[in-house]
Amino acid sequence: MKLLLNEIFYSIQGEGPNVGRPSIFLRLGGCNLACSWCDSKFTWDPKVSDNKLVTIDSTIKKIKSFPCKHLVITGGEPMMQQDKIAVILKRLPGYTAEVETNGSISSKISPLVEQINCSPKLSNSGNKSYPLKIKPSNKKAIYKFVVQKKSDLKEIKSYIKSNKILQSKVYLMPEGIKRSEILTRSKWLIKICKKEGYNFTPRLHIMLYNDKRGI
Ligand code: SF4
Repeated sequence: MKLLLNEIFYSIQGEGPNVGRPSIFLRLGGCNLACSWCDSKFTWDPKVSDNKLVTIDSTIKKIKSFPCKHLVITGGEPMMQQDKIAVILKRLPGYTAEVETNGSISSKISPLVEQINCSPKLSNSGNKSYPLKIKPSNKKAIYKFVVQKKSDLKEIKSYIKSNKILQSKVYLMPEGIKRSEILTRSKWLIKICKKEGYNFTPRLHIMLYNDKRGI
């Protein structure tokens, strides 16, 4: 059994409820969407992809080499390889994990993870709409929306309402791969979060390193 892997590195979580938590990033290859503003095209776009097939044993060995027992499983779309994720997590007792997903694939690994960071992609991503498969009844799910412009809010609010997502589970995140873009968007997005009662999430890694990889 081989895993389509992009990279493994040790950093801090830069987004969502666990911002600032030291984490090992397990970035898997492949995605079933193609967002226009994707900041990790190197995981799925054949023109720039640098994925590799690796063994589960070598992945576990690399994970164990870091002084940390929390994993952020990201991509790409990690749920495309959830059977392999399950094998890895079962072989890492004492580790906690959160998984990032675009919400288009049902989760079979919920019992194995601490949190599911579901980021449904709406029209600003350029993808066709799709049904949400990570249901709000899943107590481990939070919902992160990428906001590019103020007018995105209308669609986001309608999506939250029609999918019956609790306000407290919603995180709005500014789109951008440069510090200056994130700063500019954060200023008006924080005002929107205060007005609507949603959580704001920064993109701490972009604020610190712009779009540099693996740190
Ligand atoms: S779902 Fe995520 S990884 Fe896939 S194209 Fe969109 S932003 Fe990129």
